[in-house]
Amino acid sequence: MIEDKTPQRTSLSDLGEFGLIKHLTSNFEINNPSTLTGIGDDAAVLDFKDKKAVVSTDLLIEGVHFDLAYMPLKHLGYKSVVVNLSDIYAMNAKPTQITVSVAVSNRFPLEALEELFDGIATAAKEYNVDVIGGDTTSSQKGLIISITAIGEADENELVYRNGAKITDLLVVSGDIGAAYMGLQVLEREKQVFQVNPNNQPDLDAYTYIIERQLRPEARKDVRTLLHALEIKPTAMIDISDGLSSEIIHLCKQSEVGCNLYEDKLPLDPQLISVCEEFNIDSTTVAINGGEDYELLFTISMDDFDKIKGNPNFSIIGHMVQESEGIHLITRADTKIPLKARGWNALEQ
Ligand SMILES: [Mg+2]
Repeated sequence: MIEDKTPQRTSLSDLGEFGLIKHLTSNFEINNPSTLTGIGDDAAVLDFKDKKAVVSTDLLIEGVHFDLAYMPLKHLGYKSVVVNLSDIYAMNAKPTQITVSVAVSNRFPLEALEELFDGIATAAKEYNVDVIGGDTTSSQKGLIISITAIGEADENELVYRNGAKITDLLVVSGDIGAAYMGLQVLEREKQVFQVNPNNQPDLDAYTYIIERQLRPEARKDVRTLLHALEIKPTAMIDISDGLSSEIIHLCKQSEVGCNLYEDKLPLDPQLISVCEEFNIDSTTVAINGGEDYELLFTISMDDFDKIKGNPNFSIIGHMVQESEGIHLITRADTKIPLKARGWNALEQ
């Protein structure tokens, strides 16, 4: 589906590992004061002074987490960074550095890695993080990317998963479910393409949901928005595996239950129409689809007036006693227990 726009193929072995790293990282700038030494020595040196450092890492494997049949390498580089930064924002911290490690098989020429690193550099610039190290090596099969993100926060700013209290409100940023349906559209088009390679897909009706899948953004604005509203969440998590799984994580770690309201779920109109086309229930998609990279958090009921009507946020439920359990309250006012049906790489 994605045509090969890199006719030039330079073998990676022509450069050697050190030449390759130098070549791929030559455009990276250092902008954060906490980065004392970046790439070039045996290790990077960071200084967070009186702040706390937060660290999160992710591993992405071709064929498990991404499919290069429809994922352009530049987008993949961008998304690999974004999914890591999302975890830093979920701690209410500010990301400052990343390390990038890739393993590639010899089917990838230098030009392919240049595209991947172009996406990584674009994300690093957009989110103002310094690329301070990493590794490149060869793999027997396919592409493997591991990114570690580092961030900083004052100790009293950090928000954990375990702070939600009974009667707290459950809030989500943006809208949910679109990334999952974007993936369904891409999978469908891939099947069509395999049958008829001359078929040029018309994806105009799906631009938003496809972009949510291929080029997601992390919610760097939420930290600032909440700060301006003078709200500190009591617990927070990012939505990578799906809303229901993340709610269950928050509830389990905070030892509370939750009522989630179906009619409050924020769905984009394009998501609703594509769900109709695919004959899939949009609530199921919103609850179980993953990869939205929105932030899900709880706030004290006292903060209700500060956040109600804010277009960036939706209040979708409230926390209850742990013994009451975790439920979806449907439009018909029935109570359905929420199950973690989120995407799980280990189940594939
Ligand atoms: Mg997370």
